[in-house]
Amino acid sequence: MRDPDFTRVKRLPEKASVDRGLMNQILDAGLVAHIGTVDHESPIVVPVAYARLNEQFLIHGSAASRLFKVLAAGSPACATVTILDGLVLARSLFESSMNYRSVMIFGTFTLLEGDSEIAALQTITEHLMPGRWNDARQPTSQELKATYTLAMNITEWSVKVGEGDPDDNPADLHTPQGRDLWAGVVPINYSYGDPIPDPQVPTNTLIPAYIRTWKAHKT
Ligand SMILES: Cc1cc2nc3c(=O)[nH]c(=O)nc-3n(C[C@H](O)[C@H](O)[C@H](O)COP(=O)(O)OP(=O)(O)OC[C@H]3O[C@@H](n4cnc5c(N)ncnc54)[C@H](O)[C@@H]3O)c2cc1C
Repeated sequence: MRDPDFTRVKRLPEKASVDRGLMNQILDAGLVAHIGTVDHESPIVVPVAYARLNEQFLIHGSAASRLFKVLAAGSPACATVTILDGLVLARSLFESSMNYRSVMIFGTFTLLEGDSEIAALQTITEHLMPGRWNDARQPTSQELKATYTLAMNITEWSVKVGEGDPDDNPADLHTPQGRDLWAGVVPINYSYGDPIPDPQVPTNTLIPAYIRTWKAHKT
C-alpha cells in the first residue's frame, strides 16, 4: 500500500472529493477508462471498456494483448475515468478550463476465472449495454480462454470534480476587453443516436426494448 498522501489531490484541492458514493456515481456513468502501467520500463496508457462491481474495478481484453498480459503479471497500474462536462470560457485564456468529473484508481489487477470471470463479464456487458447479456450468445469456453478478465480492488483512489463558472482574475472583469467579452460554460452532453441495424438483420426485426431505455440512463 502506498503512502495515503499519494492519492491526496494537491493541485486545486478544492476540486477533490473523498466521497466514495460520488466516486461510484462517476464510475457508473463513464464508459471508457485509460489504464496506465509500465512495460519494459516504458509507460503505456491504453483506453478500454470497464465496469464497477461493488468495490472492484473490472476490465477484459484479449489474452494476446500486451496490456492485459502485463497487467495479469502484476504490473502496478492506474485506471483513470474522465467525464467531460463542459468547456469553461473565461475572460483570460489562462483561466479558461474544463468542467469534468474524474476518478483515478491505483493498484494491481488479478486474473479472474470460473464463476467470478463470468460474473465480471456479465457486469461489464450490462454496464455498457444494459439488457444485452441475456439476449446475445454467451461466451464459449474457447472464447473465455482467449479472454483475460481482470479485477482491481478499489482501495486507493481519488476523485476530482471541476464545475461552475469561470474563475476569472477580478482585474479582468474591469478591463474594456474583459467587461464586454462573453464568458461562461458551454456544456457537453452525451446522447445515443437512433440505432442503425446491421445489413444482415432481417427486415421487420424489432429493435430490443432495452436499447430504448438507454437514452434516459446516460451520465
Ligand atoms: C478533462 C480534464 C482536463 C484537464 N485538463 C488539464 C490541463 O489542461 N492542464 C492541467 O494542468 N490539468 C488539467 N486537468 C487536471 C489534471 O487531471 C490534474 O489534476 C492536474 O494537472 C494536477 O496534476 P498533478 O499531478 O500536479 O496532481 P496532484 O494534485 O499532485 O496529484 C496528486 C494525486 O491527486 C489525484 N489526482 C490528481 N488529478 C486527478 C484527477 N484529474 N482526477 C482524480 N484524481 C486526481 C491522484 O491520486 C494523484 O496521485 C484536467 C483534468 C481533467 C479531468
